[in-house]
This record gives sequence, structure tokens and C-alpha cells, in this order.
Amino acid sequence: EVSICWLRRDLRLEDNAALYEALKGPFPVLLLFIFDKNILSKLADKKDARVTFIHRTITKLNIDLQMLGSTILTRFGKPEEIWSEILDEHDVKAVYVNHDYEPYGRERDDALAEYLRSEQIDFHTFKDQVVFEKNEIIKADGKPYTVFTPYFRQWQQKLNKFYLRAYPLNKYSHNFLPLTAQELPSLSAMGFETSTLHFPSKDFSSKLEAYEQKRDFPAEDATSHLGIHLRFGTVSIRSAAREAIAQGAEKWLSELAWRDFYMMILWHFPHTVNKSFKPAYDLIKWRNEESEFEAWCQGRTGYPIVDAGMRQLNQTGYLHNRVRMIVASFLTKHLLIDWKWGEAYFAEKLLDYEMASNVGGWQWACGSGNDAAPYFRIFNPELQTKKFDPELKYIDRWLPAYKQGKHVQPIVEHAFARDRVLKVFKEALNE
Ligand code: FAD
Repeated sequence: EVSICWLRRDLRLEDNAALYEALKGPFPVLLLFIFDKNILSKLADKKDARVTFIHRTITKLNIDLQMLGSTILTRFGKPEEIWSEILDEHDVKAVYVNHDYEPYGRERDDALAEYLRSEQIDFHTFKDQVVFEKNEIIKADGKPYTVFTPYFRQWQQKLNKFYLRAYPLNKYSHNFLPLTAQELPSLSAMGFETSTLHFPSKDFSSKLEAYEQKRDFPAEDATSHLGIHLRFGTVSIRSAAREAIAQGAEKWLSELAWRDFYMMILWHFPHTVNKSFKPAYDLIKWRNEESEFEAWCQGRTGYPIVDAGMRQLNQTGYLHNRVRMIVASFLTKHLLIDWKWGEAYFAEKLLDYEMASNVGGWQWACGSGNDAAPYFRIFNPELQTKKFDPELKYIDRWLPAYKQGKHVQPIVEHAFARDRVLKVFKEALNE
């Protein structure tokens, strides 16, 4: 008789809600990870760095687990098929998972819940990847917030030690199922190659002190780079929030709340993954010029701050927040290309890709989102550069050709593009 704790995007043993509850429960715990074919088969790049990251993390978890006399059960396949194999192989009494807010994850978990019910196996689910989820922060009329500021006010008011409590591993770590070590499927067996990209460290605490002052200047590299760790759960959101509070880093804490906010929005409005939050924006007549999209992807628009950004993204899998806003505004407004194209490109490239924040960020930049920048706010790349990269340090780092006078000419003139987008947006929005 065993319990199974299935890890998905909560790849850690320490401070993991579902794992803690499983270990506290009546049966020895078997930890499971599935390399999900439904997801992996959609990745175009065989060197996708996120697959390498996950593989390394699971390898490390397995070593940690061996110290506790157990091993992680890893499989490669479709969860719906793997689960029926597992129930054949083990006498499973209960299954524990942490909540997932993305449409695919919800569907997968609903199907599993039904299957387990039919087999009379208990299914326990927990909040783990956010501080507040679903309906925990809600307006007086019972509806979800769609504007961040009042949401954040309530988020802050509600926050206390209870919501940030840790789930210590050592309390029940004797309750793992004793098992001899098992091999993980190799990356190549799953059709992938090892990426050589650099992964950011988990140590973010030194970044918090000067964060508020320096966060908007891309050359400073003054942000935490914690995104990938929050995405895959290699750092617990509660430990991040506790550290922010300990250091009085309010601005940084509010960024973690933005993350909660977008997860809540995705949960309540899952259709916004491929539809504009404000329906009128789906009437915009995008130009969707493929050659211009290609130029944007490759950093050849002739706008140095845009091109430097796209090169940082392509080379490192990371892009500074200020520059994410600039390149997203440029694509949707200067080039009149559908935000979904940009969203998909980021989804392919970002190490910290998070569906909720990415869709939220893109809809914000193009104006179609809840609480978005108004449609007539069109970032001027030159002014943005003067303000946030005045000495061109960032541009010089990612686009050295610019200083040498060797970069391409702008593909569209700013004033012309501005007039064009205003006209097209006004027409669609009937303003
Ligand atoms: P820090 O500034 O150190 O912030 C700490 C953490 O707070 C981040 O790791 C992230 O988890 C969270 N956070 C910070 N800003 C935001 C925000 N605006 N919205 C939601 N969460 C935030 N963030 C992602 O995590 N994944 C994405 O796919 C993503 N796509 C974006 C697309 C666009 C067009 C825009 C404008 C923003 C996007 N963001 C996304 C938000 C933000 O740019 C990144 O979270 C941030 O730049 C990551 O760097 P960092 O880890 O150093 O963040």
C-alpha cells in the first residue's frame, strides 16, 4: 500500500505542500515524475533548455531522495497511459498533487481525478505555486479582480504568517517508500539534446536591496532572475515572499503578487490564452507581415533597443522586463503584428516562460488585456532608450554593431507607424 506524490512544476522536496501532506499521511510515499509526451512533443527545439533544466533537477532530486533511502519513479509518456500502468504495478491508496492553473494542467488533473474516483483511490490537491489562488482574493461582489491595484491592496492585507508557512521536509521524511535507486530516462532517449545555456542561480537574496532603484535599467542586471525557479518550483514562492518581507523589499514583493494576479486571471478567464481579454481587440486588422515578424525575431528591425533585446532573448533565454515591454509594444504597434505571434515566440524562447504572465504581459503591452496600457500609449523606442539605457550600455552589450555604425536601417519610421496603428486600432475599437 502506497501514496503517490506526483511532481509537475513543483520540483523540490523542501517546502512542498502536496509532498508534506503525503508524507504526513498513513501510507509510505512514492514520488513520481512523468516526462510528459503531450508537452514534449510540441517543443520544436531539440535543445530546448527547459527540458535540460528539468532533467538536471530531477536527477538531483533523485540523489537527494536516495539519501533518504528511496528513489524517484520517472516515466516518459502520456500521463493518462502512465497512470494506468502505475495503478497496475502498485497498490495505490492515495494520490497527492499541487494545483495547476493552466488549461492543459486543469484538464489533465480533472481526467486523473475521475479515473482515480472510478478506482476508489483518494485524490488530494493543494495550493503550492502561488501565495493566493483562485477565489482567495475576491471583490466584495464575489467577482474576480481584473485591476491589479485594488487586488494588491487586498493581497497585502490578507498576507500573514499562516499563508507563508513552510512545509518542512525533515518532519516526516522517514515516510518515503524504501526503494532501490532507479535510472532516469536519458535526454537522448526522449529525443532531446543537452542545452549549453546558463541557468540562473537560486540565490536571489542579494538582488533585493537595490531592486526598486535599479530594476528598470536593463544594463544593470539588477533583477532576481528567479523566474525559471518559480516556474518549475525549484524555489518555493513562500520562501521568496518571506525573504522579501524580511528585507523590506516591497516592490519586489509586489512583483510576486503580479505573478499571483496573472495566475488568478488565467484561472478565471482561461479563454484569454488565445482571445483578447477585451473582445474588441480581436477585431483589429493586424498586418501580420511575415518578413517583418522574422526581422523582429532575429533582432533586425533597425531599432537598436528592440534588436538588442531580441538578441539577449535568443542568446540567453532571458529578457529584461523593461525590454520585454518595449519589444512587445514594437511588434504589436509599430509592426501591427498579432500579440499571439509574439506570445508564441516568447513561449518558445524564455527560460522563465509562464503562460499566465506571458499572456498577461503581451495583452498588457498591446492594450487588449485587463488592466492594460491604453491603446494610444505607444512606446517610443528612442525615448525609452534615453530614459532607461542613456549610455547605451545595454545596446552595446547585445548589439555591438550599432556603435560601429554597422546596423541595419529602421524597417518602419516611428511617426508613420504611430499614425498607422492609431488609425487601425481606433477603427477596430470604434473610438
Ligand atoms: P524580478 O523582477 O526579479 O521579479 C521576481 C519575480 O516576480 C519574477 O521572477 C516573476 O516570477 C515575478 N514577476 C515579476 N514581474 C512580473 C510581471 N510583470 N508579471 C508577472 N510576474 C512577474 N514573466 C514570467 O515569469 N514568465 C513570462 O513568460 C513572462 N512573459 C512576459 C511577457 C511580456 C510581454 C512582459 C511585458 C512581461 C513578461 N513577464 C513574464 C513578466 C516579467 O517581465 C518577468 O517576470 C521578469 O522580467 C523576470 O525576471 P526576474 O526573474 O529577474 O524578475
